[in-house]
Amino acid sequence: MRGDPDNGVPVAIARVRGAFCPQCPGSDTAGEMFERSERFMRRAAVLSETGLREVLARACQKTRLMAPVRRGKTSFDFEWIDDPDAVQMDYVRTVLPPKKAFLPVREMLLEFARGAQQAAAPLLDDAPFVLFGVHPCDLTAINQLDWAMGKRHGVADPHYVARRSAALIVGIDCMPDEYCFCTSVDSSDAREGADLFLTPIDAGYLVEVLTDRGEQPLAESGDGRDATPEEEAAPRAHGAEKKRRVTTRIESELEALPDLLERRYGAEVFEETAARCYSCGTCTNVCPTCFCFDVGDEVDLLLASGTRERRYDSCQFLDFAVVAGGHNFRGERVDRVRHRWFRKFVYLLREHGAPFCVGCGRCSKFCTAEIGLVDVLNSVLAEAKEEAVR
Ligand code: SF4
Ligand code: SF4
Repeated sequence: MRGDPDNGVPVAIARVRGAFCPQCPGSDTAGEMFERSERFMRRAAVLSETGLREVLARACQKTRLMAPVRRGKTSFDFEWIDDPDAVQMDYVRTVLPPKKAFLPVREMLLEFARGAQQAAAPLLDDAPFVLFGVHPCDLTAINQLDWAMGKRHGVADPHYVARRSAALIVGIDCMPDEYCFCTSVDSSDAREGADLFLTPIDAGYLVEVLTDRGEQPLAESGDGRDATPEEEAAPRAHGAEKKRRVTTRIESELEALPDLLERRYGAEVFEETAARCYSCGTCTNVCPTCFCFDVGDEVDLLLASGTRERRYDSCQFLDFAVVAGGHNFRGERVDRVRHRWFRKFVYLLREHGAPFCVGCGRCSKFCTAEIGLVDVLNSVLAEAKEEAVR
């Protein structure tokens, strides 16, 4: 039991970790529900900065707009906004990734009533919106979430699919800082998942049109014009400069990671990292590819009606792997710490064919204990390689 902060009424909490909402209409997979953009653009246009702000203003009026905004001197976040001038075009990373547009930190899944009028109504949010300003690494993460939430187990999560299908996504290119390692995980020049993709150029923005849906905002803008051949080459030059500036690297081919990590399952560096880690869960909560959640029912005192809510969970929390009977499969901190690297670079890499890490650098940048994901990974890899030559 715990108090309801809104009305002071005690409520019963039933917790079901990682469960989907059983009352909601599911679909076989989400794959066919999104218009997939292709790797290369259909056509390229040029929008001035003013023209782009006008497109954003129209998005605010006609639908809803989520975009990066400044939250502090150096911090940014994706927010629902109604002022197009608040949109930050130039940022390195937000604290929470844009996955919150599809998988919010907390969301109500359904309302239910018991007794003679027993009923359960799913709460699906399928109102159209524009998700603006997504960097290539976060686009890659959205594609990975599409797989995890839409296809992985053959049943799509209807809440995720409803929001994902309602979104028009506009990507934008970026420049890295010392935490970024997108070039190591093949996400630095991703386009898939976006309807439009922007690259800054002298005249404003080179706009790659990637889907039919992406044509509409341009058609409504009086500002757009076709790009010249020189302007069309801008994304390639921007991408090359970005790659040149990335300084953090994983010291291995991706395909070799699962075997190398498994060879060093008991690596000393996991113990050293566990000794520093606070199990605070910040690293997973800010990660664009983490998708673990907890589900809780809140029922009124008469047990007549209630709601079901889900919220982010973390494999770094002490009770994450507790099962019926009270056994904890990862009761030791070192087991939870190791699990984060194994989950991203062994288990899901093998299952999905790509690491479940897109090199955004958030977990390292925002870690309470300043633990670097790539530092730890490279230490394990160095041990594995050393062992191989012994
Ligand atoms: S593991 Fe870290 S660097 Fe990789 S995607 Fe998640 S937050 Fe970004
Ligand atoms: S953010 Fe850092 S301290 Fe917190 S759980 Fe993750 S690794 Fe540990």
